[in-house]
Amino acid sequence: MNKFEKSLFWLRRDLRLYDNAALYNALKESNSVHCAFIFDSNILDALNDKQDRRVEFIWESLLQIKKQLNKFGSDLIVEYGDPNIIIPQLVKKYQCDAIYMNKDYEAYANKRDTEILKKLKIKGFQYKDQVLYEENEILTQSGTPYTVFTPYKNNHLKRIFFEGITQFDCESLSSNYAKIDPVAMLSLDEMGFKISNLKYLAIPVGEAGGKLLIEDFKKRIHDYKLKRDFPFTKGVSYLSVHNRFGTVSIRQLAKIALEQPSEGASTWLSELIWRDFYFQILFNFPYINEGQAFKAQFNNLKFENNPDYFMAWKEGRTGYPIIDAAMRQLNQTGFMHNRLRMVAASFLVKDLLIDWRWGENYFANKLIDFDFSANNGGWQWAASTGCDAQPWFRIFNPILQSKKFDSEGRFIKKYVPELDVLTKNEIHEPWDKRKRDLINVKINLGVDYPMPIVDHSEQRLKALAIYSTKK
Ligand SMILES: Cc1cc2nc3c(=O)[nH]c(=O)nc-3n(C[C@H](O)[C@H](O)[C@H](O)COP(=O)(O)OP(=O)(O)OC[C@H]3O[C@@H](n4cnc5c(N)ncnc54)[C@H](O)[C@@H]3O)c2cc1C
Repeated sequence: MNKFEKSLFWLRRDLRLYDNAALYNALKESNSVHCAFIFDSNILDALNDKQDRRVEFIWESLLQIKKQLNKFGSDLIVEYGDPNIIIPQLVKKYQCDAIYMNKDYEAYANKRDTEILKKLKIKGFQYKDQVLYEENEILTQSGTPYTVFTPYKNNHLKRIFFEGITQFDCESLSSNYAKIDPVAMLSLDEMGFKISNLKYLAIPVGEAGGKLLIEDFKKRIHDYKLKRDFPFTKGVSYLSVHNRFGTVSIRQLAKIALEQPSEGASTWLSELIWRDFYFQILFNFPYINEGQAFKAQFNNLKFENNPDYFMAWKEGRTGYPIIDAAMRQLNQTGFMHNRLRMVAASFLVKDLLIDWRWGENYFANKLIDFDFSANNGGWQWAASTGCDAQPWFRIFNPILQSKKFDSEGRFIKKYVPELDVLTKNEIHEPWDKRKRDLINVKINLGVDYPMPIVDHSEQRLKALAIYSTKK
C-alpha cells in the first residue's frame, strides 16, 4: 500500500524522468504523482536579455517531458510566476498530500524552498540528486570541510568505490503518474522571451539531447586526457549544460567513467568531482555567495577597473586573438572551452587588471551552463583568490597559451575570421614587429583587427605589484 494518495513532484534543475531521486521516491510512495515545473518569475524577470538560450533550453526540455508523460496518460503542468504562490495553489488544486523535490543548493533557491515547505501543511521531501556527494558528506579526518581538491578527490573516490553508485529506476513505476487531461504549454512569448539562436547552434536539448551526447562521448572518453585542452578538437563531453539543468544524471555519468579502465575516463571523473568540490565549497563557505574572496586577504585588491578595457574584453576586441576568439565564442554560442575560460579569466584579471567579480558576472549572464558554484570557483581559481587556486604569481601568458593549445590558429580563425589570412606563425601575435612587413601586406592592423590594448609583460608586473601587497 502506498503512503500517499496524491503527491506533487516539482521539477527544477532535474529535467529528466529517468534516474531522478525525488521522482523515484514520489512514484514509489504515492498512488498518483502530478509533475510540475514553474518558470520562476523572481529569476526570469531579472534577466535583461530576453533572447536567453537557457530559458529556451529549459522550455525545449520541458516539451520533451510533456511528450513522455503523455504516453502514460499524464502531463507536465508548466506555469510562470512566483513559486511561493503557485506551489500552494497546485497542491490545493490537485489535493496533494505530499510534495517531492530534489535539493537546489544555490542561495536563492535554498531559501525559497525552505519557505515554501514551511508554509505548506503537507509532507515535504527533498533529495540529493544534483551531485554525487553533497554538503558535508565528505569531510577531513578532523571533521572540517576540504579546501584543497586532491585530498577531497581521494576521499570522494574512496567513498564511491566503497559505497557504489545507486541509480533510481523511475521507469518501473510509471503507472503511478497521475492520469490527467493534457495541459497547454506556455509559450516563450507569454513570459516575455523570444527565440534565441539555440536551434541554429544545434545544441542537443533535453533528456534526448543528453543521451545523444553521452553516447557520442562514450566513444571518445579514453582520449579525454590527451585531447581535452585543445579548443578546436572535439575532446570534451559538452555535457555541462545538461549537468546544469539535470537533463542527464550525474550518477549515470560517474558510472560510465568508473566502468572504463582508461586514463581518459579517470581524468574525466576528476572533472565531475571538481563539480562536487565547488558545490561543497558553496555550502560550507556561503560567504562566497556575497561577492567575497574565498581567501579574505584578497578581498580588497586594488584593481584598475578600466571600463574601456572591460568593454573590449567583453566584445572580443582586445587585440589578443586567442582571447578575442574565446570571448566571441561565448557571445555567439553561450559556451566557452575550459582551457579558454581559464585563459580569458586570467587575462581579464592579471592583464587588464579588472576585478574578477566583473568577469564572473559577465560569464554568469552569458554561459548556457552557468552554475554559481563552478563559475565562482573557476573565477576565484584564475584570480588566485580562491581555495586551491592558481598561485597569485603564476600568470598565464596569452601568447604562449595560444601557441600551445591552438597551434595552427584554427580556433582563432573560426571566431576571428578577419585573421584568416595569417599563417600559424603570424596569428598568435599579429603585432609582432619581426613579422610586421609580411603581416601588413595581408591585414591592416588597427583597422581590420585591433592592436593589442595592453602589453602583457608590462601588465604582468603591475599585477604582481597589486597582489604582492596582500600576500
Ligand atoms: C572562469 C571559469 C568559469 C567557469 N564557469 C562554469 C560554469 O558556470 N558552469 C560550469 O558547469 N562549469 C564552469 N566552469 C568549468 C568548466 O569550464 C566547464 O564545466 C566545462 O568547460 C564544460 O565543458 P564540458 O561539459 O565539455 O566539460 P568536460 O571537460 O567534459 O567535463 C565534464 C563535466 O565536469 C564538470 N566540470 C568540468 N570542469 C569543471 C570545473 N573546473 N569545475 C566544475 N565542474 C567542472 C562539468 O559539469 C562538465 O560538464 C568554469 C571554469 C572556469 C575556469
